[in-house]
Amino acid sequence: MAQLSPLLKQATPVLVDRGEGVHVFDESGRRYLDFTAGIGVTSTGHCHPRVVRAAQEQVGKLIHGQYTTVMHRPLLTLCERLGEVLPEGLDSLFFVNSGSEAVEAALRLARHATGRPNVVVFQGSFHGRTMGAASLTTSGTRFRSGFAPIMGGVHVAPFPYAYHYGWDERTATEFALRELDYLFATACSPADTAAFFVEPVLGEGGYVPANREFLAGLRERAERHGILLVADEVQTGFGRTGRFWGLDHFGVRPDVVVTAKGLASGFPLSAIAAPRELMNKAWPGSQGGTYGGNAVACAAALATLDVIKDEGLVENAAAMGQRLIEGARSVAREHAVIGDVRGLGLMVGSEFTTPDGKPDTATAQRAQREAAARGLLLLMCGAWMNVVRMIPALVVDAEQVDEAVQIWSDSVKAAVAAGE
Ligand code: PMP
Repeated sequence: MAQLSPLLKQATPVLVDRGEGVHVFDESGRRYLDFTAGIGVTSTGHCHPRVVRAAQEQVGKLIHGQYTTVMHRPLLTLCERLGEVLPEGLDSLFFVNSGSEAVEAALRLARHATGRPNVVVFQGSFHGRTMGAASLTTSGTRFRSGFAPIMGGVHVAPFPYAYHYGWDERTATEFALRELDYLFATACSPADTAAFFVEPVLGEGGYVPANREFLAGLRERAERHGILLVADEVQTGFGRTGRFWGLDHFGVRPDVVVTAKGLASGFPLSAIAAPRELMNKAWPGSQGGTYGGNAVACAAALATLDVIKDEGLVENAAAMGQRLIEGARSVAREHAVIGDVRGLGLMVGSEFTTPDGKPDTATAQRAQREAAARGLLLLMCGAWMNVVRMIPALVVDAEQVDEAVQIWSDSVKAAVAAGE
C-alpha cells in the first residue's frame, strides 16, 4: 500500500473533513478554531458562500483556458480589479499559481529589467521553496541545506529583529542599515544589484514587523542605486495586516509587489505587479506556466475582492488583530517563557525563550500541541520554530478571538507545568 511521504508531516493531528468560516471539522465532527487558515490563505474564511458560488459557476463555464493560447474574461476582469487596489503605478500584472512561482517571476523580472546579477535579502526571509526562491530564503537552514549549490548572486543583510538582538527598534534599524551599506562597500556592489526582496512582516522567519525607518532606508538606497524594491506581500497582502498591503503601514512605495495566499481564498493563484515599462522588459516565453491565471481561481479571486470590500474585512482585521495581540500579551505577562509578542493585524506571534535567553522550542511546541488538543489550531515559525503564530481568517469575530485567547492561556499553562 502506498504511504504519504514523510515530507507531508503534519503540524497537528487533525484529519479535516470540512471547513466553515474560522472553523474546521474533523471526520468525527469535532470542531476546531482554525487560527492557521491554511497558512494565511483562506482570508474570507473556509468556503465563504460567495466564493463557493463564483467558483461553482465558473467550473460550469470554463475551468482552464491557457493564457498564451486563449484569453478569458475572469483573468481580464481580475487584472482590472487588482489595478484598483494595487499601489499607484503598478499597472501591469502577471499571474502564476503559488507564492514561490511569483517570487521566481519577480526575480527573473528584476534581472531582466536591470541586467544586474545580485539580489539582497534580509536575514530571516522566507520567499519559497523552488530553487530560486529557496536561494532567497534565510529563515532556517532546513529550507536550503542538502541540495546545494543553490542560486548564486544572493546576499544577506540584517533585518531589524530587535528582540533577537536584545536591542530597541531604533538601534536594530540603524544596525541593519549600516550593515547593508557595509555589504555594498565590501561583497556586493550596489551597481551590480538588481533588487531588494523584503517582507513587510517577516513571516516564516518569526512574525517580525519591519518599520518605517528601515523600509524608507531601503527605498532611499533603491532610488540612489537604481535597485528595485520588491515587496513580498505573499503573506501580508489582501488585508491580513489590517491595511490592504503590509507596506501601507509604512508609507513606502514598492517597485514590484508579489502576492498569493489571500488572493483567491484557497484556490492556487498568485501574481506579480509592476509598472508596465518595467514588466515590458521581460519577453513572452521567458516566464509563465500551463496553469497560471486559472479561470476558476480568477473567479474565486474576484469574489474574494468583493467579500473583502463588502464585509469590511480589512477594518475587521485591524480591530480583531488589536484584540488578539492584546490577548496574547496578557497571556505572556503570566508566563516568563513568552519573551515577546509581536505582529501586525491578524499576524500575531509569541516567541518562547528560556530564562537564559535561548530559544525554547520544546515549550512552544508543547503549547501548540496543548492548544490543538483543546480545539485551537496554531502553527510555528521562526528560525528555531520557537514562535507560535496566530493567523485566523479575516472574518474572525470578537467572541472567537476571546475563545482562542482563553484556550491559548490554558495551553501555555499546561505546557509550562509539563516542563517543570
Ligand atoms: N513568500 C512568503 C512571504 C511566504 O510566506 C510564502 C509561503 N509561506 C511564500 C513566499 C511561498 O509561497 P508558496 O508556499 O505558495 O510557494
